[in-house]
Amino acid sequence: MTDRDPLELRQVSRHFGSFTAVDELSLTVRAGARHAIIGPNGAGKSTLFGLISGTLAATSGSVLVEGRDVTRLTVDRRVALGVAATFQHSSLFLRETVLENVLLAVLRRTGTGLGGLRRVSTRTAATARARTLLERVGLPDRYGACAAELSHGERRQLEVAVALATEPRLLLLDEPAAGMSPAETARLTELVAALPAEVTVLLIEHDLDMVFELADTVTVMHLGRHLKTGSPAEVRASAEVQSAYLGTMEVSS
Ligand code: ADP
Ligand code: MG
Repeated sequence: MTDRDPLELRQVSRHFGSFTAVDELSLTVRAGARHAIIGPNGAGKSTLFGLISGTLAATSGSVLVEGRDVTRLTVDRRVALGVAATFQHSSLFLRETVLENVLLAVLRRTGTGLGGLRRVSTRTAATARARTLLERVGLPDRYGACAAELSHGERRQLEVAVALATEPRLLLLDEPAAGMSPAETARLTELVAALPAEVTVLLIEHDLDMVFELADTVTVMHLGRHLKTGSPAEVRASAEVQSAYLGTMEVSS
């Protein structure tokens, strides 16, 4: 590993009581990677994301971001270091508008907070940035809608805009295509593919077509453990991976 690696996990574990959801998992994510994590339901993927974003504390092991040990840092401290996540279960403010959701994230990033909205110059700049992000994720006509009114797919798009508002260098996407229509999934795939190389992407995804289209590196998790990391072709060809998936999910070609 080098100090420039956006993420390194060293034998990280998470127990829930006597149950081990993530079991001594080690992994390095390279700068600029489009790295996917796949594995059957319950494999520990979302728990692992919690350990990286800081919503869950590791039981043991360490999490390093650009060479810095963040294992004991809060979510906010990790966001300030460039780590942003969208979660499998939405974290939007449903009573606020689409624009306000992104605006809040922009203001959090600039450290001005809501008080910043009283300054016209700050408000104008933050609003312009929020609008640009909403265009980028494909929601240009929904600024004024209440987040609760959005379709499932639109909510996921909004979550990506909220995550991008913090200007992450490591973007964690947990099943962004879940519940999306094929057209929405295609748009999201394009959006992620078009992110600049400065943004490293770590993606959990059930939609293997999306994984194999986007990812340059794939890690397979099974029963909380690291099973295999390789190129999409290597992972697809692996007999070990196929047997872990047997009966749970199809690794199609
Ligand atoms: P995945 O995202 O791969 O489907 P998860 O990380 O959500 O898997 O869950 C891995 C395992 O950990 C599952 O068996 C799940 O029931 C368990 N688990 C996750 N969160 C908790 C929790 N807060 N308390 C107890 N068990 C949990
Ligand atoms: Mg999950």
